[in-house]
Amino acid sequence: MDEQPSLSALPTPEENLLALLHSRAETDRLRDREQLFSALLESVNAVLWALDWRTRQIIYVSPAYEQIFGRSQSLVLTDYSTWLNNIYPDDLEYAQRTLEQVIEQGAIESREYRIIRADGEIRWLSDKCFVSQRSEAGMPLLVVGIAEDITDKKRMEEELQRLATTDVLTRSSNRRHFFESAQRAFEFAQNEGEPLAFLLLDIDDFKKINDRFGHQMGDQVLQRVAECGVQTTRRGDLFGRIGGEEFALLLPGCDSDLALQIGGRLQRAVRQLAVPTAEGPLKVTISQGVTVLREGDESLDTLYVRADEAMYKAKRQGKDQVVQG
Ligand code: GH3
Ligand code: MG
Ligand code: MG
Repeated sequence: MDEQPSLSALPTPEENLLALLHSRAETDRLRDREQLFSALLESVNAVLWALDWRTRQIIYVSPAYEQIFGRSQSLVLTDYSTWLNNIYPDDLEYAQRTLEQVIEQGAIESREYRIIRADGEIRWLSDKCFVSQRSEAGMPLLVVGIAEDITDKKRMEEELQRLATTDVLTRSSNRRHFFESAQRAFEFAQNEGEPLAFLLLDIDDFKKINDRFGHQMGDQVLQRVAECGVQTTRRGDLFGRIGGEEFALLLPGCDSDLALQIGGRLQRAVRQLAVPTAEGPLKVTISQGVTVLREGDESLDTLYVRADEAMYKAKRQGKDQVVQG
């Protein structure tokens, strides 16, 4: 015979009401939490994402995806390659290689790469990710990550780098940055047996310019001479202000004939300057010492000393000329 539940086991109307209120409270609590979670996800400048590693399907991206990538969320959810296609071409190999590292090692502290938004703007991401689930055999199942937009931080770093490496007045490389880069270029040329030319230039009678027209006019002359220097350089060359009115030019891959040609071009460019003053256009000239890397040159300093001696020879011989050392 079926056992009838005793009347006392059935919930009373009061108990039913309490259970209903409880479940309402629970639902409200969950809804509040969900709203809080969505608000958080929308306010952080980062995309949270989850990738099913077996199917290579993105199964979740947070709302910030649309704001950071400037593309629709639904596209990336249907096709993972949308994410990869948005990576800046130069950074794609790095992004893929580091993701493989995540798969092998389980996590990676920081991966930074650029993306191109739908509107063409380039943004920097710091995409930290880790394997959150593995199969019993150790195969990754789920990879999750947080890709933060660090464009502002990167721009600030670039600006700091620019300030630390350039001369404020002439915007050419400062002395320290010039010699650090020159040292690397010297070592490379020496190891690879590649040519390298080094050129020093000093403005002639610069003190007289300052004395006659004032320090500000002197500064203008420095700027104009630096412009000539920068205009003379090709990609990979390095032009820097290494002292008050002294500049240096480093020309990787350049033999002595070409170095003399470039020195001559720079000489003419400066001669053609006509800096306006109250007394009419001011003519400026420079003296240069040019040298190239030779067998047996032990350090960058050897080249520097040779170029410096050549430059002083140019001064002794009457200035406004290029001398080879
Ligand atoms: P030389 O033809 O032999 O090179 O003579 P010079 O007068 O050019 O050389 P000297 O070394 O006697 O003078 C360089 C002057 O450059 C002295 C210094 O006051 C000036 N100078 C150094 N830095 C700056 C700068 O930033 N601005 C200005 N206006 N002048 C500077
Ligand atoms: Mg000088
Ligand atoms: Mg001088």
